[in-house]
Amino acid sequence: MQLNLRSTFAIAAISLSLVLNPAAAADPEPVFSHPILTLESATFSSPFGMRNDPIRNRPAWHRGVDIRGEIGAAIHTPADAIVTYAGTKAGYGKLVDVELSDGRKLRFAHLNEITVSSGQAVSAGDEIGLMGKSGRRQLAHLHLEVRLDDKTYDPTHIDDLVIFEGCCATTD
Ligand SMILES: [Zn+2]
Repeated sequence: MQLNLRSTFAIAAISLSLVLNPAAAADPEPVFSHPILTLESATFSSPFGMRNDPIRNRPAWHRGVDIRGEIGAAIHTPADAIVTYAGTKAGYGKLVDVELSDGRKLRFAHLNEITVSSGQAVSAGDEIGLMGKSGRRQLAHLHLEVRLDDKTYDPTHIDDLVIFEGCCATTD
């Protein structure tokens, strides 16, 4: 009887909080609350935009940024998201795409190992894969893209997104 009363109370409290805060029922704004990499040796190795392609050795548009690190370094989702693709793709090697509640997509490529599956819900800070060099003949690095409606954006210019500690959060 006591247990029943308690669970009735709990349900009433949850219902009341939804009534008092109707936004809680809608899609929340995405919040970047965790760095993508917590690896101390992480550094940028290639910027977004026009650059000399290191494999073809000619100018090419780079749709993301490259972060150099170590094979096997854990890669985390910086916000709550849904995994929209986890698999391989030509030019990208092993990659994970996640979609945020506002429709922005983050792409993590050249992974050594994928640790999530398509359709999975992930929370900020969850590991989604391990750094590698699949799909490119270079040193281990993460290729990171930010997309919205098939347009790519410079990941270092995304408000509140921390790619690695001490790097590039721009809140203005
Ligand atoms: Zn890249």
